[in-house]
Amino acid sequence: MDIFTELDEKLFNDSLIDLNIRKKLKFDSKNEFYQSVKSKKKCMFPNCESKSIKRSHTIPKSGSLKLISDDSHLLYPHLDEDSDELRMVMDRIGIGDASTFPGFCKKHEMIFSEFEQKKEIDSIEQAKLQAYRSICREIVIDKLHLDKVRIAIYKYKNERNKQYRLVLENKISKKIEKVKVEYDDYRIKFAKIAQSKLTEKLEFSSKIHKKFLEIIKNEQTQENVVMNVVNIDMKFPVALSGVGYANITDNKKNNREIKMILNVIPFKSSTVLIFAGDIIDKDILENHYDYVVQHPLFILNFIESFMMHGTDHWFIQPKIWNEMDGIKQKYILDYFFVTENSFLEDVNFSIFDDIRKEFLESFPIPEKIKEIEIEKLNFNFNNTQKPLTTSIIEKYNNFHLKNDI
Ligand SMILES: [Zn+2]
Repeated sequence: MDIFTELDEKLFNDSLIDLNIRKKLKFDSKNEFYQSVKSKKKCMFPNCESKSIKRSHTIPKSGSLKLISDDSHLLYPHLDEDSDELRMVMDRIGIGDASTFPGFCKKHEMIFSEFEQKKEIDSIEQAKLQAYRSICREIVIDKLHLDKVRIAIYKYKNERNKQYRLVLENKISKKIEKVKVEYDDYRIKFAKIAQSKLTEKLEFSSKIHKKFLEIIKNEQTQENVVMNVVNIDMKFPVALSGVGYANITDNKKNNREIKMILNVIPFKSSTVLIFAGDIIDKDILENHYDYVVQHPLFILNFIESFMMHGTDHWFIQPKIWNEMDGIKQKYILDYFFVTENSFLEDVNFSIFDDIRKEFLESFPIPEKIKEIEIEKLNFNFNNTQKPLTTSIIEKYNNFHLKNDI
């Protein structure tokens, strides 16, 4: 076999870099990322040169996270980076670490202290601050992810060049100065998709961050953003803070990507939902808000939908998850990869069975809707979902079709 054909084949078959080296690259990249998340950065507040504290909470620790924890721990969905196969797991996390990021310096942490101490959000001013804080987390974490992907591509390419050179040297028994492989294998292609998605996300977050900052500094009226707050009088066993994306075709046949920032913040005997977004999405976001607040069951549906179709940045009370059947747990974790729905669409199964049952008993509801809700409770989690690899290949192809690359 011609040496170059052999090398090319190794590239295509992904056997050029030894599995152990690949594992080490992955391990280093993961560790560097976690070190970086845990180390102080420049304070997020504009024109502040101070160093941030290591752990700014996105979701209030003692007022919210503690209340839904068991033994001061919560569970959160997480990509299992130690596994060779692609899978999500529910990981345990202490309330001291949950939802933290290197965000603000000591002084600017204080801007959130009022509702942190009061242990409730009871004014629109505080809701604005909470929405602002969640955007700050998105920015810091996405930037760190982007760095991680860039470094990973760089190191992977270097390693690949080195291995290619070593094989060549071995074959021809001569030293070679430098080898540069230009081929984008599937690892690099996937990393580039991640890079491009993160860049897009950061564009939106930076824009909306600026608008919220003007509002909380009272330099602007609320006209540039959409904000709605709803308070429900029960403690939900989940805390969530993140951004959801929905591709829609609107009334005027325009294809649009709608973005919503959602916070679900549980307190002692209530839960506050803060909906926020850019003014350009006002028609869709307010419509959806008006729909959701019509009935407690619709609020429940919306929270479940955002957990599955919006963001994976949420924390659930361990007891609730642990009481679920193992088959249901696996279905939910696989569903993250398989679903193509957005947060504007309901999930067709029930996550919080007890709450759903209680709502069905406590509130009057039209028979037709009741049937749909009961179907969710009776959902058969033994249903097979699309294989993960199929979904990933589809998403990969769709991305290339959409972006024409
Ligand atoms: Zn500061």
